[in-house]
Amino acid sequence: MKTSGYAAMDATSTLIPHTIDRRELRGNDVAIEILYCGVCHSDLHQTRSDWPGTIYPCVPGHEIVGKVIAVGGEVTEHQIGDAVAVGCIVDSCGHCDQCLGDEEQMCREGVTLTYNGHDRITDEVTYGGYSKHVVVRQEFVLKLPASLDLARAAPLLCAGITTYSPLRTWNVGPGSRVGVIGLGGLGHMAVKLAVGLGADVTVVSRTDAKTADALALGADRLLASSDAEAMTASANAFDLIIDTIPTRHDLTPYLSLLDIDATLVIVGQLGLVDETSTLPLLMGRRRISGSPIGGMAETQEMLNFCAKQDILPDCEMIAIQDINTAFERMERADVRYRFVIDMASLEAA
Ligand SMILES: [Zn+2]
Ligand SMILES: [Zn+2]
Repeated sequence: MKTSGYAAMDATSTLIPHTIDRRELRGNDVAIEILYCGVCHSDLHQTRSDWPGTIYPCVPGHEIVGKVIAVGGEVTEHQIGDAVAVGCIVDSCGHCDQCLGDEEQMCREGVTLTYNGHDRITDEVTYGGYSKHVVVRQEFVLKLPASLDLARAAPLLCAGITTYSPLRTWNVGPGSRVGVIGLGGLGHMAVKLAVGLGADVTVVSRTDAKTADALALGADRLLASSDAEAMTASANAFDLIIDTIPTRHDLTPYLSLLDIDATLVIVGQLGLVDETSTLPLLMGRRRISGSPIGGMAETQEMLNFCAKQDILPDCEMIAIQDINTAFERMERADVRYRFVIDMASLEAA
């Protein structure tokens, strides 16, 4: 099947219209007409080759929402017309301990990424959601509960699960004291999800300029990291800190905010952080960890949780023709809080 999309042709190219081939349906495949696709920071990094290994042309997009338009003969989980979603991964080995333990994102043999990956059977390059259609193995297609607004659900598939998974891993619930560093696409979801789980939530931001935004998202307060007095007063104040800063930064000032045995989880920056003092780690047996998306079962659990709690990302809808401007604005953090492409604009192109 030929389908239209937008692709980066090399590391310096803007995204331009590009026709791609989607594979013929295998027995366990689902064909999806894409209605909406969220714009993730990693789309920008990948298309610009900020990370190694970008394959061009590169069609990004791993926050995909759409409708089933065809199913293979062995598909039992999805029917034509169903509202469905696809996140960051579209396949894994299916037989290692991690896959069998519902942690496909940690597959010992490596996951197949939704874009910039290789199909496990044909080795064809995978293309993402900045396109009209996608074909995905049924086990990696999620069900969208009927009460979720399709137009706003897309960012849950990366920003949502990336922040939900550590909240669940570290057993956040009523009474948990959660800090969220950074208030972008990931940070605003971390706040909403932690609030939904019943936690006491503090946004940690450089200044207090975002206090009103933090409170509007449901946070209990904002802590300004530039306010030395307030930082000292908040020592040992958190059971878990979710660090969503997407660039190199200094972790040391945040470590003393953790209580004894508590953990700071990095979900934003992929790469180096600044030199970090081990002193607060030793003195409080504190931990630094990281966390990548979640497994399929946990992602489905997150979608069901969001539907039940009426939790949705704050989105700015764009046409696909505006994607290059959206990338520029995302780089300056000029979006509240996630761009979503209305794929109806691709038909109009
Ligand atoms: Zn993403
Ligand atoms: Zn596996």
